Amino acid sequence: AKRSGGARFVRFESAMRERAARRTDIETDLRQALQSDQLFVVYQPVVGLGAAGGTDRSAGVEALVRWRHPVRGIVPPFEFIGVAEESGLIGPLGDFVLEQACRDFMRWQHELGALAPRLLAVNLSRAQLGHREWVDTVARILADTGMDAQRLQLEVTESLAAQDTDVQQRLHELKALGITLALDDFGTGYSSLASLHLLPVDTVKIDRSFVSQSETSHHHRVLIEATVKVAQSLGMNTVAEGIETAEQANVVRTLQCDKAQGYLYARPLPREDLAAWLMQPDG
Ligand code: C2E
Ligand code: CA
Ligand code: CA
Ligand code: CA
Repeated sequence: AKRSGGARFVRFESAMRERAARRTDIETDLRQALQSDQLFVVYQPVVGLGAAGGTDRSAGVEALVRWRHPVRGIVPPFEFIGVAEESGLIGPLGDFVLEQACRDFMRWQHELGALAPRLLAVNLSRAQLGHREWVDTVARILADTGMDAQRLQLEVTESLAAQDTDVQQRLHELKALGITLALDDFGTGYSSLASLHLLPVDTVKIDRSFVSQSETSHHHRVLIEATVKVAQSLGMNTVAEGIETAEQANVVRTLQCDKAQGYLYARPLPREDLAAWLMQPDG
């Protein structure tokens, strides 16, 4: 038993070394990527759910980063966002996404008029809030791109939003610029309905894991319903994430979610494809 434990440890150790090496590779390559146009931004529509049954295609979009690696092809965010956060690269990466997304958003406004998305959601990491000056960077990006702060929504997770007073302070400074905040992935981790009122958020995004079980699980439907009711009573609106089927859409519409997002409506799309999607008649 001792020997196999030893063998197991050696295997464990080499797996750790491999992981560490891969991390270093990703970090080196990501540094390069930031300087050579390998990163780009795609946009997933967030549709409005009218009581009458229609879907409003122009309610908003969420910006999601992509990496076109010269050798590996498209690398998904879960493989590099964590590395970016730990290495400090999330700063420049986040600024790139924000600026690019604001530029693309303004372009839709000019090209599409009334069909253009009305809200731009951008994901935020804890590490981006570490620097006091970052709020100035955001203000500068808004000024440079002509983006209206009211149309920008930053998405934070609950663990982030409930952080120390420094982070709270930073979030309030962002709100003072006119930017709104969304609580991402609600229902995962230690989220609790009872503490929702403590967070300076305007929108609650109900995690995909609730939505995906909403057709079969009464329990999950009840949780969605309770979340919507509490959010409404606090003047917040709700987005159901990860809608893949028409039935899920019906469930969250019936439970009075304001908006929805998911593959049923559209996958994340490059800027031009999103414009084409917005010009299609309501589905
Ligand atoms: P998230 O913020 O929760 O984004 C939603 C994720 O769910 C996206 O994955 C999206 O493609 C995926 N998704 C949307 N609809 C559906 C659906 O109907 N079914 C399924 N199965 N998935 C759906 P993606 O683009 O791979 O991003 C993963 C995560 O990476 C994001 O989760 C976010 O936490 C992070 N991320 C992405 N872009 C950025 C960024 O620019 N900055 C930061 N800090 N994080 C980012
Ligand atoms: Ca998000
Ligand atoms: Ca989410
Ligand atoms: Ca997530």
